[in-house]
Amino acid sequence: RTYTKDDIIQIVEEEDVEFIRLQFTDMLGTLKNIAITASQLPKALEYACTFDGSCMEGFIWLEEEDMYLHPDPSTFEIFPWRPQQGKVARLLCDVYKCDGTPFESDSRQILKRTIKRAQEKGYTMEVGSECEFFLFHMDEEGNPTTVTHECAGYFDIDPMDFGENTRRDIVLTLEEMGFVIESSHHEVAPAQHEIVFRHSEALSAADDILTFKMVVRTIAKKHGLHATFMPKPKSESAGSGMHLNLTLQKEGRNLFFDEKDPYGLSREAYYFIGGLMKHIGAVSLFTNPIVNSYKRLIPGFDAPIYANWSVKKKSALIRIPFEKEGKKWIELRSPDASANPYLALAVCLAAGMDGIERKILPPSCIDEQEYRGRSQKLEETCRLPKSLLEAVEAFEQDELMQSVIGKELSQKYIQTKKKEYREYCAQVTAWELEQYLYRI
Ligand code: GLU
Ligand code: MG
Ligand code: MG
Repeated sequence: RTYTKDDIIQIVEEEDVEFIRLQFTDMLGTLKNIAITASQLPKALEYACTFDGSCMEGFIWLEEEDMYLHPDPSTFEIFPWRPQQGKVARLLCDVYKCDGTPFESDSRQILKRTIKRAQEKGYTMEVGSECEFFLFHMDEEGNPTTVTHECAGYFDIDPMDFGENTRRDIVLTLEEMGFVIESSHHEVAPAQHEIVFRHSEALSAADDILTFKMVVRTIAKKHGLHATFMPKPKSESAGSGMHLNLTLQKEGRNLFFDEKDPYGLSREAYYFIGGLMKHIGAVSLFTNPIVNSYKRLIPGFDAPIYANWSVKKKSALIRIPFEKEGKKWIELRSPDASANPYLALAVCLAAGMDGIERKILPPSCIDEQEYRGRSQKLEETCRLPKSLLEAVEAFEQDELMQSVIGKELSQKYIQTKKKEYREYCAQVTAWELEQYLYRI
């Protein structure tokens, strides 16, 4: 949607909007906001609203604390679940420093910068995401649990699917907010669901992921359930992924499709895959940014373990679906929804663009390798990071990816993630107690 500032002032008046949330994200992709009343809207639209960024995760600068919010009019959205008189709306914002220049470590602007660089060469990336999530019960005090009484599986229906009404409410709410919902279904694990909304250009796709997660959690809570996008909440069940379907456009033409190729892929598509695979270690730090992310990337649950690609295998890092509406997509299957979508898409785009610029060819697809025999398969594939620490180390070695994130944020990110990993390793877990306490 394209709104001007005047459109927004008019909608706010006509729709009786009383509060506007000015939203922005921290380094980890957590959505934050300050609320203003409609009377302050003209001021906000002139970029005059400030907030104190000094305790935000990943907001580092020297002397000043006040930062300016620059609302993006195209992100205006009314919250359908809030009162219908004196409504609540939101605007996503870019963060600026008090000297009026963009804050370099603002993740939304990092994606914008990366998009601009690709656009200067004529490329636009489109993204379709598939976010999976669990709906769990809450305990008597209203705290989230991992309990569910449901035992439905892939594509199951009523009466086995207990989440049906919640999912219906989520889908209708998203549609009211302008999302085009392509499909929704019960996923493999009990209480696991997926809702697929329409692809869009990278920036709005990242905006949409954040909005989507906010809506899912809010509506689930209204139904007395806890929605979680945690990548692997239960060790015995499938984890939740956030598959990213990616494609490039150039001069209004889909650049990934070539009907003459046996897999329907163009040269550029191969290079893009090659670039993604080359940088996948560093990319993983942003597509799989928490300790728990790496517990999902294990065999047996349709999640990838090796940097490889396939036309049909769900265990591959990149799968090649059939072309849709004349567009050829590649499906990156490693990401999960704990990612900051701006940073995740920025590194994916930059890695793919590097592949195109340097004409990096990927190894042949695993379907072919299997046909030729196993020995070659093992030669050509490399492992995805096995832990958060391995991903941090890969990022430390990858100068291109660091330049995408920017020097300051890269340092802060590495430091934060190493600390997270150290803290995790120092924990005595329930598994250890169970294994050792009685026996040793
Ligand atoms: N839940 C699986 C994952 O962890 C993906 C299942 C699917 O193919 O939709 O990525
Ligand atoms: Mg799925
Ligand atoms: Mg998928």
